[in-house]
Amino acid sequence: MRIHYLNCVSTCPLGGALMDGRSFASLRGRLTCTCLLVETEKSLVLVDTGFGLRDVADPRSRLSKFFLFLLRPALREEYTAIRQIQRLGYDPRDVRHIVLTHLDFDHAGGLDDFPHATVHLLAAEKAYAEQQQTLLDRMRYRPQQWETRANWLGYGQGAGGSWHGFEDVCALHGLPPEILLVPLAGHTYGHAGIAVRRRDRWLLHAGDAYFYHAEMEARPRCTPGLRFYQWMMEKDRRARLENQERLRELAATGSQVQVFCAHDEIEFARLTPRPAIERRSRPAHAFS
Ligand SMILES: [Zn+2]
Repeated sequence: MRIHYLNCVSTCPLGGALMDGRSFASLRGRLTCTCLLVETEKSLVLVDTGFGLRDVADPRSRLSKFFLFLLRPALREEYTAIRQIQRLGYDPRDVRHIVLTHLDFDHAGGLDDFPHATVHLLAAEKAYAEQQQTLLDRMRYRPQQWETRANWLGYGQGAGGSWHGFEDVCALHGLPPEILLVPLAGHTYGHAGIAVRRRDRWLLHAGDAYFYHAEMEARPRCTPGLRFYQWMMEKDRRARLENQERLRELAATGSQVQVFCAHDEIEFARLTPRPAIERRSRPAHAFS
């Protein structure tokens, strides 16, 4: 399986280096929205969607004022998943499956650019997002990004097997066994990582289970801004910290599984020599 690494719109969070640990000369830092495009034998699979065309066209109707101000995403059409997929030479209609870590606005914004794709996620994530319980829930979960679409497949507790010490790991309907949904609750109740096998090694897209590369080191560190952000957004602190510990153990094995999160530029650079923002085109591919 061929894997492309896409950054589907960077965000520029208030706080500069207090957020990303690097932007000392600016009030605003820079975070990626890391997505994967996986080419299987039969179709394309998109892992997370970042921000989409409609977010770019009309951000105020799609995103909350609070998060627009806090994160100031670099909303340009060329950075959306659909435009990057086209530049790679693919037909976006060949994206038949989307696998989501969770439904936050910066992961689900591109869903309606692929109306024919089946969306795979943990059932608990969609059920909770639909409830719109708190003010923060209403700002992070934006039904205008997903409420009209069809073709959802939710996976429940107890439905899966074990994978590298993680339980309830789900194989996905219609997808090869090299793509798995790994429950990683904490950031949200139905948050998951997505494992993708690449030759003899696995990749684990850990979504927002953590935010900063050094959180996976033996002596974990995080910037104060991202520590605060994770605290603000967490739904289950205990589960979040336990899952971070398990991910750290997994990352320490290194040779078997490469773990990365959704928003860290340094981890994105470890995945691919391509810069987080680029505009190359490639020859066309076709699926029957
Ligand atoms: Zn996120």
